[in-house]
Amino acid sequence: MKLRSLLTSACLFAIPLSSHCAVSAVVQESATAPELLRPDARFKADVLVVVAHEDDEVMIAGYLAKLAQDDHKRIAVVYVTNGDGGGNAVGNESGAALGQERQMEARRALGSIGIQNVWFLNQHDTPNQNVLFSLGHWDHGHVLGALVRLMRITRPDVVLTWFPDPVSGENHADHQASSVAAIEAFDAAADETKFPEQLSPAKNRTGMSNLTDGLLPWQPQKLYFFTDAYEVFTPYWFDAKKQSSFRKNLGDGTGPSFAVTEMSPSRHMTYAQIEADEQTYYLTQEGKLGVDAVKAKDFKAFEFPVRLIFGKSLVGGSATGDLFEGVKAEGVPFRAVHGHSPEEKHGVTLEIGDPWRFYSLFWNAHDLDRMAALIPVPEMEADYGEWLSIGLRVCNYTGNDAVVDLNATLPAGWVDHPEYKRYPVRAGECYPVAAMVSARSSGEEKWEELSWNATQDGRKVGSATVRVFVGKVGSMPR
Ligand SMILES: [Zn+2]
Repeated sequence: MKLRSLLTSACLFAIPLSSHCAVSAVVQESATAPELLRPDARFKADVLVVVAHEDDEVMIAGYLAKLAQDDHKRIAVVYVTNGDGGGNAVGNESGAALGQERQMEARRALGSIGIQNVWFLNQHDTPNQNVLFSLGHWDHGHVLGALVRLMRITRPDVVLTWFPDPVSGENHADHQASSVAAIEAFDAAADETKFPEQLSPAKNRTGMSNLTDGLLPWQPQKLYFFTDAYEVFTPYWFDAKKQSSFRKNLGDGTGPSFAVTEMSPSRHMTYAQIEADEQTYYLTQEGKLGVDAVKAKDFKAFEFPVRLIFGKSLVGGSATGDLFEGVKAEGVPFRAVHGHSPEEKHGVTLEIGDPWRFYSLFWNAHDLDRMAALIPVPEMEADYGEWLSIGLRVCNYTGNDAVVDLNATLPAGWVDHPEYKRYPVRAGECYPVAAMVSARSSGEEKWEELSWNATQDGRKVGSATVRVFVGKVGSMPR
């Protein structure tokens, strides 16, 4: 090495004058560079799970245990928040202190089902029901960059995350926000123009002051969701009477299903028992459910099948087929998504507002068009007498200013609380409206439809509908 350096120096010094430098040039050309190092295999994931809170995975823990411990798949989990907005069932620690404890609970819980690779993005837990509130309260850009980095490190074939749509259920907006960021990262991790600093090689790998990540692009192949909707079987939330009367169950035929009553060959217990056991590590949260189940040897509450919802696949396969159906071991090249392309609209009209409007644009941009048919009309729920604010937009796609009247058609017992009835909408603009209504204060628990009509000079120009479950509900704050 020293000799070669000397020769090279001599040659550089002598280039214009001497022919003996040609000898050292030959030495240089025939010397072979060492093989490139491969990405660190310790962090490769067959499945990357992206969730919001430390314990979100409990409802699919039986399935994750099967993958990790019996099928020997490599699983990694990312928690976007540290759960600092939750309560504490066993101690005084709250806020940031609780966040620290929940991270440790998650490490132990995942360790119990054979998952060691766990990552935390340390955003604030934001208990609410609007995905845009969570993304706004988090550092959305930071989360996306961090998730893209983790996808490039873990190189997952399958990404499993929360269902990206409001549902009647716990409906935690953080769950949906973790899904939105995971989908964005799924589509960005192989794009060399996204977070390029992560892809630039280290200046001096073994030395100091490397400011780029030295990663390689990576394209995940398949995307699946799980949900906190009441209608889909889960240890916490399943409630058959909250199934919408207007459409079929979200979990019927929309993805693979796994019976957790099967025995684990390696653990010699059912996957439902393993799930209950995984729950016991979350004592600050609903860990007691697991502790009680294990103590009583009664695992009924954990025996609902794990039902996933198919998102998309770049390698074919059926919606209800196995997660790894079609997966190519050698990986797949970057596949650009459709991206945002605004629809051409005409006339004066009424549209549903956020968060539903955002989702219709988002699914289309990320090649998730099948999502629109799963919950075709926006849904929410209301406790008896609860006030709801429903986002609408009165839009004027004409060249002339317009004046539009808005009227609600509500089921018996509901009360309309409009701030205004008439909206001036300039040409080319949309007027955002928060339609205030309050639910009936008693009666049967059931689904109902609320609608709004927009009229211009007495002529109907548009309408918008939402479906609401009225009854005793326990979802997140609005
Ligand atoms: Zn959660």
